[in-house]
Amino acid sequence: MKLSVDYKKHYVAVIGGSVAGSEAASLLAKNGFRVVVFDMNILPYGKIEDGLPNWHINLRNKQISEIDKKLNHPNVRLVPKTKIGEDINFLDLVNNWGFSAIIMANGAWQDRHLPIANIDKFIDKELIYQNSFIYWFNHKHEDIYIEKKYSIKNKNLVIGGGLSSLDVIKVIMIELVQTQLRLEKGIEIDIFTIEKDGVQKVLNQFKLSFEDLNIEKAKLVYRREARDMPLKSPKDDSKESIEKAKDVSEKILNKCVDKFQFEFIPLSIAVNFTEKNDALKSVIFQRVISENGKIKPIKDSLFEIEIEMLISSIGSVPEKIEGLLYDFSSLKMKDEGNYHVFGYDNVFAIGNAISGRGNIFESKKHGNQMTKVIMDKHLTEDAFEKWLFAYNNQLKSEINEQISGIIKEISEFKIQPETIIRGILDRTIEIHTKLGYSTYLDWVTKNLPIRLEDT
Ligand SMILES: Cc1cc2nc3c(=O)[nH]c(=O)nc-3n(C[C@H](O)[C@H](O)[C@H](O)COP(=O)(O)OP(=O)(O)OC[C@H]3O[C@@H](n4cnc5c(N)ncnc54)[C@H](O)[C@@H]3O)c2cc1C
Repeated sequence: MKLSVDYKKHYVAVIGGSVAGSEAASLLAKNGFRVVVFDMNILPYGKIEDGLPNWHINLRNKQISEIDKKLNHPNVRLVPKTKIGEDINFLDLVNNWGFSAIIMANGAWQDRHLPIANIDKFIDKELIYQNSFIYWFNHKHEDIYIEKKYSIKNKNLVIGGGLSSLDVIKVIMIELVQTQLRLEKGIEIDIFTIEKDGVQKVLNQFKLSFEDLNIEKAKLVYRREARDMPLKSPKDDSKESIEKAKDVSEKILNKCVDKFQFEFIPLSIAVNFTEKNDALKSVIFQRVISENGKIKPIKDSLFEIEIEMLISSIGSVPEKIEGLLYDFSSLKMKDEGNYHVFGYDNVFAIGNAISGRGNIFESKKHGNQMTKVIMDKHLTEDAFEKWLFAYNNQLKSEINEQISGIIKEISEFKIQPETIIRGILDRTIEIHTKLGYSTYLDWVTKNLPIRLEDT
């Protein structure tokens, strides 16, 4: 018992309050630590709120209520709307606030740069990065929405691979069909129905074709083949398992193409672009071959795709924070596979905050079970729910192990004097007062946006 009282004298900062951060905060709180969770957003729901397309109503609500349960603990203080690295300098947090430990659970919010020289001058005009795009899609119906406003054009191109790029191209096709049905035929249909039934079924139902609606199929360009898309992870490293996983990935993609009627262009890399009147006009691609997992450009194989909107969906990496070191896009750690952040004794990183990708895909424990669900049901809502649920559960079990290790280490640190604890409390109270924050539940209830399904 005495140990628990001593623990209380340790104050720990967790950066990010979503799946990873809330799990860490809850474990620490249950062990008697006091925790301040900083989140850059008004609500601490991370990818669940802003990355998961909003047709996943049940999944989103379930995950959010779990986060709420974890953060609504007497030992946890949420400090929302406070970005570490911007509103609070990271070194100030480490050196002056007096936390015993700082745990980075800030996920991956920086889109990977699309590797075409000078293309970024078109950002938020003809070029949109995936994180902003899904944010817009999820929130645009809100009365108070004041962020970037996009509108889906007719010539749409997505560059990427993996589940997130499928989400992006689905959003495009769903939005296009919904808008054109209304504009061309006066038919109102909600996005939930189009997502559930698929574009082809909806068009069949109204006996309409893409030509009738003046719609062009959006294009998804991937540098490898459908079989190489990371949609299914192999059960183990054997050649047989790898080949089986590739077969499944190909099936998943084909199902998705059938259902949402986009065009898939494999084995092509973007190399250049053309512009007209300061607007991005087309993207130039080069065909490649894949040999032993390596991509080789084919000579004289350039081709051009005209676009009105280009969405880059090639992955997210942790956003860099001044004061931390990075190996390319990954947070520099003391040892690979560990949670100690390089350069500090009391800074740790968990979840996707290290590389933008947890170890989960590599973990074999539940991987088989999880991907079988995708294989059987091919990206249905139910399958995706199960996948993400299992993914997040694995993330949490990984965090459980990490936090046990971190707790052991912090317990050996010197106990903080009362003045330090008071100082941390005073600073958080100052931010709370400015924001009008009283309790966790009051804050999240007050700030939960209107949901699309309720409009
Ligand atoms: C559509 C979708 C696609 C996915 N694709 C992948 C994938 O390709 N690979 C993979 O490994 N996992 C993927 N996942 C799983 C996902 O990463 C996990 O489900 C989970 O959301 C990650 O939780 P997290 O807490 O680590 O990160 P997040 O949910 O991103 O939470 C990070 C939190 O930190 C906050 N934050 C960030 N920076 C700061 C800062 N500087 N200061 C204060 N707060 C900050 C954010 O606001 C956010 O609340 C995907 C999930 C979804 C929904």
